[in-house]
Amino acid sequence: MQKPTPFVLKNVVIIDGTGAAPIGSGSVVVEGDRIKEVLPGAPGRIPAQAAVLDGRGQTLLPGLIDAHVHVASSEANPMEQQRRNYPSIQVINTVKVLEETLMQGFTSVRDCGGADPGFRVAQEQGLIRGPRLSVSGRFISQTGGHGDFRLPTEIYDPRELPAGMAGGVYDGVDAVRKAAREQLRSGVDFVKVMAGGGCMSPADEIDTSQYSLDELRAVVWEAEAAGKYVAAHCYSDRSIINSVKSGIRTIEHGNLLTQAGALAIKEAQAYLVPTIVTYEVMPEMGHKLGVPANNLRKMIQARDHGLEALSIAYRSGCKIGSGSDCLGPMHVFKGRELEIQAKVMGPMNAIVAATKTNAEIIGQADDLGTIEAGKLADLILVDGDPLKDIGLIQNFHEKITVIVQGGCFYKNLLA
Ligand SMILES: [Zn+2]
Repeated sequence: MQKPTPFVLKNVVIIDGTGAAPIGSGSVVVEGDRIKEVLPGAPGRIPAQAAVLDGRGQTLLPGLIDAHVHVASSEANPMEQQRRNYPSIQVINTVKVLEETLMQGFTSVRDCGGADPGFRVAQEQGLIRGPRLSVSGRFISQTGGHGDFRLPTEIYDPRELPAGMAGGVYDGVDAVRKAAREQLRSGVDFVKVMAGGGCMSPADEIDTSQYSLDELRAVVWEAEAAGKYVAAHCYSDRSIINSVKSGIRTIEHGNLLTQAGALAIKEAQAYLVPTIVTYEVMPEMGHKLGVPANNLRKMIQARDHGLEALSIAYRSGCKIGSGSDCLGPMHVFKGRELEIQAKVMGPMNAIVAATKTNAEIIGQADDLGTIEAGKLADLILVDGDPLKDIGLIQNFHEKITVIVQGGCFYKNLLA
């Protein structure tokens, strides 16, 4: 396991993630795994043995957080991935995705279905390199719902999937209650439920709602009883309203929402986690990657309303996080979500969504999401001004020059 190095980074513009104006030429002091000081100007005291780095011309940001990923997605088409790969292969592929995610500047992620809590434990123990993880384990879907991967023509009973894009199909209050309890027993951080139709499932339409209020409420009851919360996959107002009525805390995607859906989210003090990038990238690449036409058709339908939905939610005053939901070889485009959100919210708010707000969503606001004394030293240095060009974040190979997680360097082009 890598050990933290005490260091001072000076001469950097600091965007601290709170939404405050950047500090022009500041310094941060890191000791152990935490930020010791954040200073406008030069550092006063340099801790013993601290490395001093000069980041002139570059901008320091909190480590990015992606609040909607599927690290266990290794192929563009989740249905075929599950058919063709052994659980062991799925795990090996997930480890690769986790390493790559950290190297894209994402020091924490929330996995919204698939990864079991063992990946979180492996990362904490230093067995693997990757972002800090908050996981939902297997997603919970109704028959014919977004997590039911059977084609309309297939008549076998669905099986719980052990790895990869792992989920299960459960109907009725008792069954969903037990499914939620099983996931909670295994140590998940939250529960993921499919409350509406999805693009990558073979037998539903995206404007539908899924599960009854009674079923959704049973899942929320169990999650809250265990001190956890529920995230719901939703596009339509109907699925959003059902979800917030049931006490669901985070609404994932929301591409078809109108004013009514936005107000429901706002009144419930729930969070919207847009994932617009996946709907842009999948129609560009999906055909070549073997994604069926039916799924691409739904992706395009969701894409065409994504930006409009975000702007309605933003104008309505919803709390907005930031997710990517990119699948398989498209994981590399996570950072493009900030560019897309910036078109509606401006670059500073897109950064806040992917740092401070996402830290709140994962329940880690005391430790992550902003550059403040006492917080964990999860930091990235960007060569240039992301407020002028937010695309620098997507160009991570060249433009993210330093990646620090818990005071440990995983990339350092300054040295
Ligand atoms: Zn997803």
